[in-house]
Amino acid sequence: MSTTQNSTPATHAVDVAIVGGGFTGLTAAYELARGGLRVAVLEADSETGGLAAAFTVGGQKLDRFYHHWFTNDAAVMDLIAELGLGDHVEISPTNTGMYYANHFFRLSTPWDLLNFKPLSFVDRIRLGLLALRARRVSNWRELENKTARDWLRELGGDAVYRVVWEPLLKGKFGVYADDISAVWFWNKLKLRGGSRGRGGEERLAYFKGGFVALADALAQRVRDQGGDIVLSAPVQAIVPAQAGMWTLQTSRGNWTAQRVIATPALPLIADMIANWADEAYLAQLRRIRYIGNVCLVLELERSLSEIYWLNVNDPSFPFVGVIEHTNFERPQTYGGRHIVYLSKYLPVSDPLYALDADAFLDYSLPFLQRMFPQFDRSWVLAHHLWRAEWSQPIVEKHYSTLIPAEDGPLPGFHICSMAQIYPEDRGTNYAIREGRRIGRRIADEMNRAQQA
Ligand SMILES: Cc1cc2nc3c(=O)[nH]c(=O)nc-3n(C[C@H](O)[C@H](O)[C@H](O)COP(=O)(O)OP(=O)(O)OC[C@H]3O[C@@H](n4cnc5c(N)ncnc54)[C@H](O)[C@@H]3O)c2cc1C
Repeated sequence: MSTTQNSTPATHAVDVAIVGGGFTGLTAAYELARGGLRVAVLEADSETGGLAAAFTVGGQKLDRFYHHWFTNDAAVMDLIAELGLGDHVEISPTNTGMYYANHFFRLSTPWDLLNFKPLSFVDRIRLGLLALRARRVSNWRELENKTARDWLRELGGDAVYRVVWEPLLKGKFGVYADDISAVWFWNKLKLRGGSRGRGGEERLAYFKGGFVALADALAQRVRDQGGDIVLSAPVQAIVPAQAGMWTLQTSRGNWTAQRVIATPALPLIADMIANWADEAYLAQLRRIRYIGNVCLVLELERSLSEIYWLNVNDPSFPFVGVIEHTNFERPQTYGGRHIVYLSKYLPVSDPLYALDADAFLDYSLPFLQRMFPQFDRSWVLAHHLWRAEWSQPIVEKHYSTLIPAEDGPLPGFHICSMAQIYPEDRGTNYAIREGRRIGRRIADEMNRAQQA
């Protein structure tokens, strides 16, 4: 790892500098280093992994925010196979449930759906058909002009929308819920339907040691090929330098590179180039809105229930989901502790976003107690709070017209960011797909130019 101790910042020269050490940045670096190029990843945090970074519980790494893969996440499975880490993947059937009007409902299989009491029998059939009809849409462009709200009502009627979909949209997008594009929802329905076993039960995948273990393996491959991963190095500015080169300024020194790939959220990239990019371009980068997320992670001495993923459809509850991670990965992995995530998406201007871990725990526990009357505060052995300001782009109507191009306004400056993933949504699978694609593309271009 590079270090800088002098007051005059050292300058490091590389072929390609990457801003951000999440899955996009690490996979781009992996491809560039494999292509024989000198690469440096500059990461603001003290850990790699970005939104999929981890902390330690019971001697084991645990994702700050809950993570799983669908079994049809091809880009991630291909990468894992290529790295020879297939034995780290665990695929398990998972229990999905819904909390509605003070009751729990299982919603893992088509059979559960038929028994879903909050809807009339006709509406249950409508709900089942809705998923089938949604999956039949093959061209997402025909949905670009519609909001998810209008499309879901059209497909399943008002009652199904009110009971099942509206609370989920509100939980995930809060004040932006009514703006969300039908394309976003279509894609969710399509993906979830593709991750099922023969009995129709959902099957999800996890990585032993947490998602960060895959990030660490990638980082190690980059280093093995001569690349550099520099942590605690927030990039303050990316500026054009002489002879078509770029300079990246950080508190740990400057990096010069022929090419730059910026992977953070678009408004952060705008700040880094604000001293030279024109106003129209900066406005485009700042146009897409994001919502934040807070996740309270509880280490419990007992399990809350058998459900892994509990969607909270009760509007009087502030969480979008209660995710009991240890109904997916065994509690023994974390020294016998039961791990529960309480997730809330919210604009970062919401006062809840500013609460510290203790205050957020005090705020949350009465809700948990109402949901699980047997629960007692004494079960909480430890708690942690994680916040992500740029957790999810707001995918609105005609989103395709808002996405900035991969190649920036000057040659050699590229953007590969979560908000460009479309019609699919954010997720490590797509970060890996896009990171590898841009890494290969730039390695090819630079190697061809060198040969010529
Ligand atoms: C609550 C939650 C649940 C999720 N669940 C899942 C899931 O189950 N499955 C799944 O696959 N995905 C899930 N995701 C999404 C997944 O985590 C992201 O899609 C993925 O990690 C994005 O990777 P990335 O590299 O594109 O971006 P990021 O992970 O955001 O990486 C960008 C990096 O840039 C760094 N950075 C920012 N500014 C600077 C700067 N100035 N200088 C240097 N570095 C900088 C950041 O620190 C960060 O490390 C979830 C996300 C959240 C928030």
